[in-house]
Amino acid sequence: MLTIKNLNVFYNQIHAVKDLNLELNKGEIVTLMGSNGAGKSSSLNAISGLIKFSGSILFNGDEINKLSPDQIVKKGIVMVPEGRRIFPKLTVLENLLLGAYTRNVTNNIKAKELEEIFELFPRLEERKRQLGGTMSGGEQQMLAIGRALMGKPKVLMLDEPSMGLAPIVVKDIYETIKKIKGQGLTILLVEQNAKKALSVADRAYVIENGQIKYHDEARNLLEQDVIQKAYLGG
Ligand code: ATP
Repeated sequence: MLTIKNLNVFYNQIHAVKDLNLELNKGEIVTLMGSNGAGKSSSLNAISGLIKFSGSILFNGDEINKLSPDQIVKKGIVMVPEGRRIFPKLTVLENLLLGAYTRNVTNNIKAKELEEIFELFPRLEERKRQLGGTMSGGEQQMLAIGRALMGKPKVLMLDEPSMGLAPIVVKDIYETIKKIKGQGLTILLVEQNAKKALSVADRAYVIENGQIKYHDEARNLLEQDVIQKAYLGG
């Protein structure tokens, strides 16, 4: 569904992503995991059209390299950025509705889609009139995912959804990720939390210093000594 070939990202002299190749098949959760500064966010930002890169990105066989960020969203590739980036001065409801801004759909359809989001995140319905900025970290992460889902993505890209959250909240977020996968969505999950990422992923890529070091089925990586030692604290 999404094919990334020889992706390179430079920030002046810094070569942040080096010849990255990655394949995401329909219905899969693939995780791109690695430590601080490994090049995970740069890869997602490149796919989203937010930063300059070289290489080729194909979505269902079509090159999307030259598209603008909003055209990429319209194609169905939607990112939940690191740090959530919700609109703090807008209500929960307004934040969610903004997720549908690129789509030309009636209010009736939007209302139905909101219901689906509220089913997934009852807390967002309870708090729909609350300002986004006053929600807790976990609630803001739910809001950011809900807002992305309002864009009816074909591929959802999550950048470190567990960052800065208490373990119990992380557990909730990952339960939701599993549910979304169950609805047939294809997910590219960027994580430092390798244990969590491997627990939901079908396949995983490990990035170190901008380069893919390992890639395999998640369950195989879980059992490898080098992954255990470097990423799972074992
Ligand atoms: P983290 O988990 O800490 O967010 P990451 O794996 O997402 O890390 P990136 O944010 O992609 O890593 O960063 C990769 C490298 O590129 C790092 O060395 C970082 O310092 C550098 N980098 C990222 N953004 C910029 C920028 N705007 N200008 C210069 N260097 C940057």
